[in-house]
Amino acid sequence: MALKGKVALVTGSTSGIGLGIARALAAEGASIMLNGFGDAGEIEKLRADLEKEFSVKVAYDGADLSKPDQVAVLVQKTQDALGGIDVLVNNAGIQFTAPVEEFPEAKWEAIISINLSAVFYGMKAAIPAMKKQGWGRIINIASAHGLVASPHKVAYVAAKHGVVGATKVAAIETANDGITVNAICPGWVLTPLVQKQLEDRAKEAGTDVDTEKKKMLQETQPMLKFSTPEEIGALAVFLCSDGAATITGTPVSIDGGWVSH
Ligand code: NAD
Repeated sequence: MALKGKVALVTGSTSGIGLGIARALAAEGASIMLNGFGDAGEIEKLRADLEKEFSVKVAYDGADLSKPDQVAVLVQKTQDALGGIDVLVNNAGIQFTAPVEEFPEAKWEAIISINLSAVFYGMKAAIPAMKKQGWGRIINIASAHGLVASPHKVAYVAAKHGVVGATKVAAIETANDGITVNAICPGWVLTPLVQKQLEDRAKEAGTDVDTEKKKMLQETQPMLKFSTPEEIGALAVFLCSDGAATITGTPVSIDGGWVSH
């Protein structure tokens, strides 16, 4: 129970990687502020189930992180509802695929605002409280695409490279405040976001999702297997632990060997 008494805000935690991280932090005793979209009844069930399973306080706020002012409000609501903010996981993200010359401006704007600007606004809002208490852990969910490029992902790759850069700056600035700021760079994780990409690829190639899964891994991940939300959650717990106290400003890869080959 390394995080007993701590409060963690995990953005985009109604699904996928964010939910995996929220579960892992709750298992270590942290109170959790959930955020993200979904059916209201299902989210309330998720919130209540997590509270019961891990015996921690779990709150939810549906702030839309494409709107800059809502990020600071979400950080404040976390402090109001749960008594502080010790861990901030900037995880919410979206994706869209098209060649540069066909990439719609509105998709560029949406991806940059949710995947990159919200990370900046989140850190800006949380760092003062973390400085005051002399302890904080910020984890920004970047991607293998924060370190290397793939075609047709111009906004996503730009945003994720930006997340890695912003992480390094915030880490240097808070290095003597008891705060660490790191980025997690996952390869492929089978979440709704990737399922949609697989379905699109299968439709375009006239194949099926299983064939595209194999091709996706062969193209990128030497281990030929997906990482899981549980594995990303375990890495987040480690980055919050005393053992990781001097890891800061680091993009940590968890990608089956993707960026090494
Ligand atoms: P997902 O689609 O399963 O979950 C995304 C979450 O973000 C959901 O809870 C959704 O409701 C929330 N969200 C989306 N737009 C939002 C908004 N405007 N405001 C608030 N919440 C919003 O996706 P995922 O695969 O779990 O991705 C989570 C993060 O991990 C993203 O930043 C993504 O880029 C990154 N990532 C994913 C993979 C992967 O293979 N799945 C790999 C590398 C990085």
